Formats: sequence, structure tokens, C-alpha cells
Amino acid sequence: MTSGATPDATAVDSSLSSVEAYRAAILAAITPLAPASLELAAAEGCVLAEDVTAAVALPSFDNSGMDGYAVRAADVAGAAEDSPVTLPVTGEVAAGDIGAHRLAPGTAIRIMTGAQLPAEADAVVPVEWTDGGAARVAIRRAAEHGNAVRYAGGDATEGETLLTAGTRMRPMQIAVAASAGRSAVTVRPRPRVVVLSTGDELTEPGSPLVPGRIWDSNSYMIAAAAREAGAIAYRRSGVPDDPKGVLPALEEQLAHADLLITTGGVSMGGEHDAVKAALRELGTVTFRKVAMQPGMPQGFGVIGQGGAGGVGAERGVPIFTLPGNPVSAYVSFQMFVRPAIAALQGADDLSLPSVRATLTGPVRSPSGRRSYLRAVLDGSKVTPLSGQGSHQIAYLGRANALIVVPEWETRLPADDEVEVLVLP
Ligand code: AMP
Ligand code: MG
Repeated sequence: MTSGATPDATAVDSSLSSVEAYRAAILAAITPLAPASLELAAAEGCVLAEDVTAAVALPSFDNSGMDGYAVRAADVAGAAEDSPVTLPVTGEVAAGDIGAHRLAPGTAIRIMTGAQLPAEADAVVPVEWTDGGAARVAIRRAAEHGNAVRYAGGDATEGETLLTAGTRMRPMQIAVAASAGRSAVTVRPRPRVVVLSTGDELTEPGSPLVPGRIWDSNSYMIAAAAREAGAIAYRRSGVPDDPKGVLPALEEQLAHADLLITTGGVSMGGEHDAVKAALRELGTVTFRKVAMQPGMPQGFGVIGQGGAGGVGAERGVPIFTLPGNPVSAYVSFQMFVRPAIAALQGADDLSLPSVRATLTGPVRSPSGRRSYLRAVLDGSKVTPLSGQGSHQIAYLGRANALIVVPEWETRLPADDEVEVLVLP
């Protein structure tokens, strides 16, 4: 879809696409964002574009795994509950102490967790096995060679690959990079997503409603869903149902966005299809029917290639035109936009987790279309919610999962086992 784009190439593919075919076409058209070096704190949620290796062995020195006493194992070999071994305590080494400590035979050095093991010590006796003495310590249990010692390189060897390109930087991976001495990492950044809701009926929540108008929920919902998927999201609401309003609104965002999402204005053949009309001017967007419910009418393309809008526009900006009905927009986002956000980061880790569960009640689905029914998943049971209309937002707020009813099923009885997608 990216190549050979000509203006005015907006197309209508009238055949019914499967969910998989549509998703594959989207992912094939997405070019991952250029990698950038980001300071570690800013890299959270981004996807590594390089391998991270250990700059030094981890740990880089032998150290104590417990608070206790550094000893020679041979000196405490005879220690037992009823015959403790008593050793003079000749010093103390704390975590961070960089002094050179040496353990003389027949003595002990007090040592803290993470402190360097003194030269010639080969074991640590945990403080719990002793009387905790300061000048002399009575040891009630033998410690074997290496007891409570964390050896240099025991965690990772110098140069070892700790994180591979393509890994998302979650808190654990941030910790690994920091432990490996990295203050910055090369990552594909969080995509900047701009959400535009179109429709003359839209009113900002907080403003009074007059008959014929509704409060805009889509722009808030989709921006929140994009953030939840790791993007940086902005919303622009209430774009009028008029190509003359939609076109400049889209053009204005091309320079700032890595991904554009519109909602509304793409119903099949309506004369108010402002988004469709505006997109004819901007690039290749294909409108299709996808064999699913909700969310049958879908549009995706790449617009603004070749410079319109400056930064980022050379490669084009992917755009999703989501249906206006909130439930359709939501389900479409989870099925198609979420994986696209991952693809912009060079990753494929954002598909919704799928589990099997038992239906607590019967469900229906149109023939030839895959239904995604809002539901409450509770352990191994899943309850379909009533009110599955695409405009029925009240039940959306209770759902934590989507029941998947395959294309070839029109009804499933209670107690059937079904696939369930867990909502984020
Ligand atoms: P459309 O796709 O523009 O034909 O809209 C389909 C339905 O979704 C209509 O009932 C619209 O009023 C509704 N709708 C469109 N945009 C929004 C929005 N941003 N928030 C809530 N409902 C919307
Ligand atoms: Mg509309």
C-alpha cells in the first residue's frame, strides 16, 4: 500500500476481507519508526532497536549475598549448635566500601550484603547462624566453600547479550539496561497518534446538549486506548462533517503524527462521508468491508507521502478511518490499530491475549461474520453482556473481554467453550 501511491487513489474494495487478511495488509504497509537514542528514563515503553550487552561482568566483583561474617570455610568446618567456633572479628566491610580487605587465617570480618568479599575469604556465615558479636563471633553452623557468595560474572559475563533488539522496555528491561551501565539506549520511540473525531452532531462533554447532538466519546476513548497501547496520543474533536473541514484538519496533523485515526464519516455511501471525500485528496486509503461485527466498514491507508506536511511525511503517515459507532470504533482499535502501533515500533507484542472460557449463556452471531461480543470474563467462565448494539456504550463500561464467535457459527449454547480476548 505504501508503494506506488498516487493522489486521488482512494479505492473501494467491495469484497469482504477476513479479519486476518485485513490485519496482514495493514501490517505490510507499516514502516517502523526511525530509531533514536533515548535517555533511559525516557525509553520506558519504547522498543529496543539494538542489543544491550553487559559492559562488565555482572556482578563485577565477588560479594556477599547476606549480612554476616566473611570467613575461610575451613576455619568454621567444625561449627555446630552445641560446639560453636569462636573467631575474632578484625574489621567490617559495608556495601560500597572500595578498600582492600584481607582475611587473616582464623579470623572473621563483618560483612554486609553486596559488600566486596575480602581477599582470602571463601564463604559468608549469615548473621543468623551466629551470636552477632562485634569483637568476637560465636558461629553455630559450618558454612561451605562459597556459601552466600555472589561470584563475579555469576549473573552475566562481560559482553553477554542481556536484551535483544525488538524487546519492549518495561520496568524490568530498564533495570537490566541500567545494571549493564547504559544511560541511553537506541529505541523506536512511542508513536505519536492523533485522533480526530468527525461529525456535526458532536459536542464536547461539559457543554450543554441540544436535541440532535451527542457528546463526543470516541476521541477520548481512542486517545486513551492509544496511550494504553504505549503511544503518545492527542485528540482533536468535533471536526465538521464536511471535506472542507476534514481536509485541513488532516493536513495540519500530518507533520505531527506517526499515525492518524479518524472516527465517523465513513459509512457506506452516505452523502455526508466527509472523511472519505477528504482522503481522496491526500493519498491511498482503501475502504473495505471486513467480515466482522461490530466494525464492518474499515478504512486504512498511508497518506501525505512525498512531503506534504514536512517531518515524517516523506514516508507517509498511516491512517485508520474507524467507524463512528463507539463500540465499533473500540473493537476496531483493538483488532487493527493496536497491532499497528506495535508495528510502528518494530514489535508484534500487542495482540490481545486469548483464552478459552465456558459460556454462561447462549450467544448469536450473523452468518459469515466473526462477532466480538462484549463480555465479562471471570476465571474460566465468560458471560455475554446484553445490549450488543454498536452504539450501546453503557455495557462497554462493564466489559473486560470479547467473546469471539467464528464466521461459521450463528449461535452457540450455554456451556460451550469459546475463544475470549482479554481487554487491556
Ligand atoms: P458515522 O460513522 O459518522 O456514520 O457515525 C455512526 C454513529 O456513530 C452515529 O450514530 C454517530 O452519531 C456516532 N458517532 C460518530 N462519532 C462519534 C463520536 N465521536 N462519539 C460518539 N458517537 C459518535
Ligand atoms: Mg457521521
